[in-house]
Amino acid sequence: MTVPPVESSDRVIESRVVPLGGVRGLSVHRTLPQRGLPTVGPWCFVDQFGPTFERMNVLPHPHTGLQTVTWPLAGEIRHRDSRGSDVVLRPGELNLMTSGDGVSHSEVTVAKGPTLMHGIQLWVALPDDRRNGPSNFEHHAELPKVARDGWAATVMMGTFDGVSSPATTYSPMVGVELKVRAGRLTVPLNPEFEHGVLAIDGHVIVDDFDVAHRQMYYLAPGRDQASIDVRNDTTLLLIGGAPFEEDLVMWWNFIGRTHEDIAHARADWEAESERFGFVDGHDGEVIPAPPLPNVRLKPRRRTL
Ligand code: MN
Repeated sequence: MTVPPVESSDRVIESRVVPLGGVRGLSVHRTLPQRGLPTVGPWCFVDQFGPTFERMNVLPHPHTGLQTVTWPLAGEIRHRDSRGSDVVLRPGELNLMTSGDGVSHSEVTVAKGPTLMHGIQLWVALPDDRRNGPSNFEHHAELPKVARDGWAATVMMGTFDGVSSPATTYSPMVGVELKVRAGRLTVPLNPEFEHGVLAIDGHVIVDDFDVAHRQMYYLAPGRDQASIDVRNDTTLLLIGGAPFEEDLVMWWNFIGRTHEDIAHARADWEAESERFGFVDGHDGEVIPAPPLPNVRLKPRRRTL
C-alpha cells in the first residue's frame, strides 16, 4: 500500500504565547495569524487559553470586521456586550458575536473562587459585503453532532460531513470540535476547503506528521480526507473554509481593508463613539487601544 503524497504546502504551525486583554488578562497560545499564513478559510485568529486556574477578566474592548467564536472546554464565561447581551457560556456551547461595523464586549470567569479555565477563541473575517453591516450576537446551547468510526464531532460553524450548524455564517466554512479515540482513523474533508487541525489537549499524528500539543496542521485544498493517528483519546479542533481572497488589515481588535479603516476605528474607540456602544457592569472601565505603529498598516500576505 502506498502512502498518499503530501502537498508540499501542508505544514505544522507553531503556537506562540501572547498576553491578552491588558494587565489583568490571561496569556494565550496563538496559532493564527502566522507570518505567511494570515487565514485558514475565513478563520483569521485562533487562541487557546488554559488550562489554567487564572481568571479570565477581559474588560470591554471593541471589534470591527469579524465574528468572535468562543468555545469553552472547562469553566464558565460571562459575556456582556454593547447590544445588551448578558450570557453565561458553558462547555459544549457556542458564543458567536458578529461585529459588523462595530461592537464591544467583555468576557469574565463566572466562578468566584479558583476554577479551571480552558477554551478556544477564534475570529472569522467578515467578507467585504458584510463587514460594515449591523452587529449581532448568538448563543447556541445545542449544536448538531455527528459520530463515525473512531470520532465524534460537534459542528460549531458551517457544515461538516453533511451536518450543518445553526450558527450564522457569511462565507463557506467549517468549525468542528472533534473527539477522537485512540487508534488510526480518517476524517472527511471538503476538497474545496483548506483546513487546519489544532491539537487542543495532546499530541496527534496527521498524515504521518507529528503535531504536538497546541500546534496546528495545515492542509491545502483538494483533500477529501485526513488520516489521524493518536495513542490516547484526545480532542481536536478542525477549522477550514474556501481560501479567503480579500486582503485583510488586522491590528489589535480590528479588521479592515486599509490603514485608514483601522485608524478610524481606533479613533472612534478612544473617543467613546456610539459606534462601539457601552458594556454595562464594569463601572465604565475599558481596555484602551494601544498607539498605532509609526508605519502604515498593510495587508498580511500569504506565502505558505
Ligand atoms: Mn473580543
